[in-house]
Amino acid sequence: MFNKLVVALMPLVPRAIVKMISNRYIAGEDTASAIKTCQELQAQGFLTTMDILGESVTNELQANAGREEYLKLVSDVSKSDIEKNISLKPTALGLGISDKLAFDNISAIISKAHEKGIFIRIDMEDSPHTSKTIQIYKRLRAEFPRIGTVIQAYMHRSMDDVEAIATEGGNLRICKGIYKESAKIAFQDSQEIRQNFVSLIQEMLSRKAYIGIATHDLYLFDASLKLISDMNISPEMYEFQALLGVPIDKRLRELVDAGHRVRIYVPFGSQWYAYSSRRLQENPDIAGYVLKNLFIRN
Ligand SMILES: Cc1cc2nc3c(=O)[nH]c(=O)nc-3n(C[C@H](O)[C@H](O)[C@H](O)COP(=O)(O)OP(=O)(O)OC[C@H]3O[C@@H](n4cnc5c(N)ncnc54)[C@H](O)[C@@H]3O)c2cc1C
Repeated sequence: MFNKLVVALMPLVPRAIVKMISNRYIAGEDTASAIKTCQELQAQGFLTTMDILGESVTNELQANAGREEYLKLVSDVSKSDIEKNISLKPTALGLGISDKLAFDNISAIISKAHEKGIFIRIDMEDSPHTSKTIQIYKRLRAEFPRIGTVIQAYMHRSMDDVEAIATEGGNLRICKGIYKESAKIAFQDSQEIRQNFVSLIQEMLSRKAYIGIATHDLYLFDASLKLISDMNISPEMYEFQALLGVPIDKRLRELVDAGHRVRIYVPFGSQWYAYSSRRLQENPDIAGYVLKNLFIRN
């Protein structure tokens, strides 16, 4: 209720305050700032992936502009000393306008990234785009090995998706899922989502597919570590992933020190305001986290 109120009042909050709140989660407005953040994280032993903040676009011109922005990022990352890993959102590249447009734009980016030795992860958005995103991943994976996509543990369909696409050498991020989805297609209960998350990880590990365990839920850290240990999985087969700024630094540090890979998702870009507002509207609970982070830093 409180979080919903915060979201409803968002338009009244001055941009400068929203910026102050989002600063913790966003690595700046340009590529240079994001590369600097990645360098700092990598100096501390973390891996990184960069994401250009973008809203879902409404016409071909905007989708193509999104493609050009990503092509420039691929070029900038290839010239830098940071680890070569980028995430992208299909709706920022035309999914939702035309499947062909999205495919052409994503494949142009992945093809250039392939030349430069850069890994690309196709993020997963809301349910109207799930099947199409998986189709794009499957088509491109046949040609480009260094790509991955995302499976959301709250979706009922996810185990079927993992069974269909988690092959040896495949690469999937498992996360809970951030969008509001109906009870017809998605678990609503947090324990059910956790259980499905653990089952998906187990399935991925047993299929020898590379897995990104993307969560800040300490229960899931422990459950994943137990599976990894019980199944005797080598550290090259998985990584933990967290969003920049989420205050679980101590736990992430412990993981790195214990020899696990930990990747930080580093979003940046001029659309930080739209991104922050949209994230809050999609899931008002985030407002609670954001406010808490203003006062409690650990
Ligand atoms: C690297 C990464 C990539 C992701 N990619 C996608 C994607 O492609 N598609 C998609 O739908 N979702 C994506 N997500 C979001 C994900 O689906 C969840 O919505 C999000 O991670 C919150 O779930 P949780 O597992 O952290 O558990 P929760 O139960 O939501 O959180 C566990 C604890 O972590 C803390 N916490 C969680 N989030 C925050 C926050 N933002 N700020 C401060 N504290 C927080 C809270 O204290 C909470 O108690 C991604 C998440 C990560 C970490």
